[in-house]
Amino acid sequence: MSNLSAAASNLGALDAAHHIHPFSDMQKLNAAGTRIIERGEGCYIFDNHGKKYLDGFAGLWCVNVGYGRKEITEAVMRQMNELPYYNTFFGTTTPPTVLLAQKITSHAGPNINRVFFTGSGSEANDTWFRMARVYWATLGKPEKKMVIARRNGYHGSTVVGASLGGMKYMHEQGALPIEGIVHIGQPYWYGEGADLSPAEFGLKVARELEAKIDELGEDNVAAFVAEPIQGAGGVIVPPETYWPEIARICKARNILLVVDEVICGFGRTGQWFGHQHFGVEPDLAPIAKGLSSGYLPIGGVMVSDRVGEVLVNEVGDFNHGFTYSGHPVCAAAALENLRIIEDEKLVERVRDDVGPYLAAGLKSLEDHPMVGQTQCVGLMAAVQLVEDKADRKRFEDKEKAGIEVRNHCLANGLVLRATGDRMLYSPPLVISRSEIDDMITITRNGLDHAW
Ligand code: PLP
Repeated sequence: MSNLSAAASNLGALDAAHHIHPFSDMQKLNAAGTRIIERGEGCYIFDNHGKKYLDGFAGLWCVNVGYGRKEITEAVMRQMNELPYYNTFFGTTTPPTVLLAQKITSHAGPNINRVFFTGSGSEANDTWFRMARVYWATLGKPEKKMVIARRNGYHGSTVVGASLGGMKYMHEQGALPIEGIVHIGQPYWYGEGADLSPAEFGLKVARELEAKIDELGEDNVAAFVAEPIQGAGGVIVPPETYWPEIARICKARNILLVVDEVICGFGRTGQWFGHQHFGVEPDLAPIAKGLSSGYLPIGGVMVSDRVGEVLVNEVGDFNHGFTYSGHPVCAAAALENLRIIEDEKLVERVRDDVGPYLAAGLKSLEDHPMVGQTQCVGLMAAVQLVEDKADRKRFEDKEKAGIEVRNHCLANGLVLRATGDRMLYSPPLVISRSEIDDMITITRNGLDHAW
């Protein structure tokens, strides 16, 4: 009997005794008991009691090509046997690392031709933060180092990532944000738009950036960062007016535009990258998650020519990097993952087929008294829960509403996430129409139960 199966009967107790989970109240978790997921296939995961769940969340927004793709595990095995590790620090690289950098940039706009590799999305955010400051310092503007981010944005949980993020509960732990990072409002029309139209509200929130730059002084601001569509903040799709105005302001005020593609990248929105959906061109763009569909940890920063030329030709040593920057086995997994996305035309599938199908399915829920609005771009979606949709009145206890729907869905075999009073959807890009039908049916039952 293997050690793993010998321990299997006892895993819950071992977990409670020895494992501190991320983002968890361990006392509550240990009292409730952790769910142990043993296996995955397609869009389904299976727990250690054999219960099957439709994974409406693709793990953690990342398993874009679905579970059980033997092509990826075989590519990983081949690379493991060939060369399990070598670094990219001291004048060396490895074949999959090079090929991956080229492959990623082939799907970005013409002005993006370089990638810096990291191990995660948080590291990617730490990386561009330093790049932006180094860029301006090299151009003779060392004072240009403040970064403007957004309330309720999410950029990871390292010290820089959590500081860039605009979540109060993250800042409260660890005395964040660090100096040099400030926040403006978010384009959350349903919750904060009051009497303005979505278009008016989009412009108003975008112009907070202009006001903040004026307040800080243009010569002190290095960059603005935002997710194309806020993910962890509640899949908040901005009004159409928002992104063009943000891009205009960044250009007019000469600050770098950083678009966090960690969730939106690699097909999630029906484009290769979320910024392409909104028609803007970032100077820097952190990536991770869907890059390898989560099969192995890898992230990076896509670097525009504007920044890349300075980093490569003027900075000299850029004293930054990680032992696992460009890890050959992770790169091999990512390369094979991107080959699958290309060959199976998953981006087009999301844009033209399953994305609109999910949007229509969710729209059909808008007749429910508890649903105020649904938003869906590609396979990234949210259902806004409300107490009274006539005047967009939200529940007093927002968490409770979301958790009740989520728990009912989970008991009925559908994994979703609730952020306050928004139900979030991010299934694998390979999901079928009938699996989407199941998501909608189970959600409706969950809503009926909670109402
Ligand atoms: N940026 C965004 C937009 C994210 O959603 C996340 C994670 O959810 C991160 C950064 C951090 O990525 P990681 O958890 O890989 O460090």
